[in-house]
Amino acid sequence: MRRIRPARAWASTRVGVALVALCLGGTATAETVVLDHVTLFDGTGRAPRADQSLVMTDGRITWVGPARRRPAPTGAIVTDLRGKFLMPGLIDSHVHLGLVDGVDQSFTRYYDRANVEQQLKLYAAYGVTSVYTLGTDGDLIHQVIADQRRIGRIDMARAYTAGRGVVYKGSYGGVPGLEQSVATPAEATAMVRRETAKGDDFVKLWMDDEFGTVARRMPYPVSRAVIDAAHAAGRKAAAHIFYYDNAAELTRQGVDVFMHQVRDRVADPALATAMKRRGTWQLASTLSREASFTYTLLPFVDEPFFARGVAPATIATLKSAERRQKLAASPLFPKYPPVLRNAMTSLAAEARAGVRYGMGTDSGPTARFPGYFAHWELELMVAAGLTPLQALTAATGTNAGFLRENESGVLRPGKWADLLVLDRDPTRDIRNTRAISAVYVAGRKVPTIWETCVGRAPDACGAAKP
Ligand SMILES: [Zn+2]
Repeated sequence: MRRIRPARAWASTRVGVALVALCLGGTATAETVVLDHVTLFDGTGRAPRADQSLVMTDGRITWVGPARRRPAPTGAIVTDLRGKFLMPGLIDSHVHLGLVDGVDQSFTRYYDRANVEQQLKLYAAYGVTSVYTLGTDGDLIHQVIADQRRIGRIDMARAYTAGRGVVYKGSYGGVPGLEQSVATPAEATAMVRRETAKGDDFVKLWMDDEFGTVARRMPYPVSRAVIDAAHAAGRKAAAHIFYYDNAAELTRQGVDVFMHQVRDRVADPALATAMKRRGTWQLASTLSREASFTYTLLPFVDEPFFARGVAPATIATLKSAERRQKLAASPLFPKYPPVLRNAMTSLAAEARAGVRYGMGTDSGPTARFPGYFAHWELELMVAAGLTPLQALTAATGTNAGFLRENESGVLRPGKWADLLVLDRDPTRDIRNTRAISAVYVAGRKVPTIWETCVGRAPDACGAAKP
């Protein structure tokens, strides 16, 4: 069979139809899998439908619809999923890869291909089948991504990168050991040109001063240069923000997307209206990031769904009295409960006002755990006032729509079969996203977190799925 090239700019309509014709005709070598009689959420925001089927061939979805109408391709492997729930794999729109070993964080020591790919496998085990990595990548990310796109049928989460995000010299942002700061608008323009030429999918900038503990924030002429250079290179510009005033001005400057919420106060109708008018997205609200800073001991440290994704030595470190005392003594510790409340209220206000919002965690830096945090983020989005269906749509179809070329996130012919199969319906209880039955990346099952674990042999993973 002719192999369909996994081109990034997948022309879904025409190529999708051709693919359906090719596959339903039944060829000797095509691998066709049918998931039958399942309740299905397609990622578009439509309510789930009962008794649906999905057909996938060679890793791509070829047909979705009512089970009674499904085609019967010859040689297909049919799996009866009666009682199960099927949805697109989750997309986490804000992660950082390869920065830690346990809770020790160091780009210089730990950022290598093995660590990056190990984390991408961990995301996939948690049902997060794509991640957007937000501005702390070394150049090797471009090789990882080029290989993913060449291979197509990978066994880990798909990565999309902002490469090296732009940091204003002496200000907040980036990671030690990665050269990524600029001092002038001209330097910003040159950096964005240089980095997008390496293959960045989008561009990131930081505008923050860590509660005023850092002397300077990125000045507006520099952010304008970053945004304009990104657009000139055909890329979207994403911003780390904290302050309301910065969000308002960056919206005026034409930034495409915010990767955190407004947190110094609450986003008001004026900001939401401006964001809507300019088409600015709130792609990540990172509620799990802010929530994690309100604890000296994460409240779920003994939950099997969390603990299986974290090495036992790391859990021991998290529980240690020394670490808990150190966190409690930090002058920033008391600042986070109101920051979390502001972020949650801002998200709810923007959602009510009709701003487009996605799901993103800022997981990857120390003690912000890949995979688990996406499930916690969904739970916090619902606690903030969204319905489970709204939170799930943010994490699938909406996140996918941020990158025009994205090939997953909705269950439609032509898209990669990146799928999450659950034992229970998450639109009834958002915590049901944890009842993972199977994860497919490009039509192949990958080990779920209930079948594997970190830092232990598979037969020593601890408690199994409840
Ligand atoms: Zn981040």
